[in-house]
Amino acid sequence: MSSNAAVVLVGGGIVGLATALRILQTRPGTRLILMEKESRLAQHQTGRNSGVIHSGLYYKPGSLKALNCRAGYEQMLAFCQQEAIPYEICGKIVVATTGVELSRLDELHRRGVANGLEGLRFLQPAEIREIEPHCSGIRGLFVPQTGIVDYAVVARKYAEKLTEMGAEIVLGERVLDIQRRNNRIEVIGESRTYAAQVVVVCAGLQSDRLARMTDPGSPLRILPFRGEYYKLKQSALHLVNHLIYPVPDPAFPFLGVHFTRIISGGIECGPNAVFAFGREAYRKTDFNLHDTWEAVTWPGFHKVVGKYWRTGLGEFHRSLSKKAFVSALQKLIPEIEADHLEPGGAGIRAQACDRAGRLLDDFDIRISGNVIQVCNAPSPAATASLAIGQTLADKALSLWQ
Ligand SMILES: Cc1cc2nc3c(=O)[nH]c(=O)nc-3n(C[C@H](O)[C@H](O)[C@H](O)COP(=O)(O)OP(=O)(O)OC[C@H]3O[C@@H](n4cnc5c(N)ncnc54)[C@H](O)[C@@H]3O)c2cc1C
Repeated sequence: MSSNAAVVLVGGGIVGLATALRILQTRPGTRLILMEKESRLAQHQTGRNSGVIHSGLYYKPGSLKALNCRAGYEQMLAFCQQEAIPYEICGKIVVATTGVELSRLDELHRRGVANGLEGLRFLQPAEIREIEPHCSGIRGLFVPQTGIVDYAVVARKYAEKLTEMGAEIVLGERVLDIQRRNNRIEVIGESRTYAAQVVVVCAGLQSDRLARMTDPGSPLRILPFRGEYYKLKQSALHLVNHLIYPVPDPAFPFLGVHFTRIISGGIECGPNAVFAFGREAYRKTDFNLHDTWEAVTWPGFHKVVGKYWRTGLGEFHRSLSKKAFVSALQKLIPEIEADHLEPGGAGIRAQACDRAGRLLDDFDIRISGNVIQVCNAPSPAATASLAIGQTLADKALSLWQ
């Protein structure tokens, strides 16, 4: 059996859903089908993240991340207000705890200003304690724009609106192949084939596999990095008010374990960044041979190991030893003890890596024929989803008359 559509979207995470929404808002009445392999939406990165509405502080000025985060931030707040989705702009502090981090903090401030953030403020130790009384550091940076939200709730609202606008969302429909036939594209799903004029793929952790369906020589491979969280027990909630972040190591694409207030209540600590032995290996003991083999045989993998082995071992140590995790947290809140923490959830980051072992920092979108592939959409892609979605919608709409 086959179905026809103008556009087929692959992936029911926040980027795929936002793209579908932007297509229908830009060109109402478009026949659009969204295929998702799971039986529910937002089951992977979108439903397993820190829930932070990022301000645009970290990103290289002019990068896709910087541009889409700044634009997407405003669009996210407007959407949440319009749809009465709970969110809060609580601000965050980034805290330097060693001398070497001071110049990195200056660089973050410079980037934030270049990206158009207003109200950034350096904090002396006493000022840090005015905002977060239990936090210790030698200098801080207050970022007033940062907020919190539940991205799974946002994604489900995108889906609700899509359905109202006439889109068809097909759950439990894994894409097995994508083929070009004359001037149509066939997307072969587990239960049927869908013919489309344009296909947009937003497949997160599987994005390189989907990219190889239309471009067998695709130069990127997804390496999965699990982020594990602990939660503060009730008795320790008083130790953190809002969001407390360390100064990230600029050589590494992740932000370091931090404290995040959750919009539905509670405080999470994490995530670390451990190489995962499977793209959906959410538990420490999960192992997927095919995924692991694909990762370790990728030429870039060995170069990543060569470059980051020391950091990687530290992350494994923090994953296996609660004591080591706690000591990373104690740099920010010295009073934290192992007894204050209970296990939280985990998410897996889809991090694209090239053959030379570069972990791609920026968002990466490729077009081949009438197929648009999102090959790298790491954090802050949830914050930026409506802006990325508009970019993808514009590209998709320009591909067909
Ligand atoms: C631990 C962690 C913390 C993060 N914290 C933040 C944060 O605080 N703020 C922020 O802005 N961002 C954060 N991010 C990043 C953010 O979550 C992601 O950038 C965003 O969710 C990516 O959305 P997506 O739609 O591209 O991917 P996903 O949410 O992973 O969705 C991809 C979808 O494609 C589907 N799919 C895959 N293959 C197929 C196939 N063959 N057929 C059909 N469907 C398929 C999958 O099932 C999945 O539902 C975090 C990410 C992680 C992992």
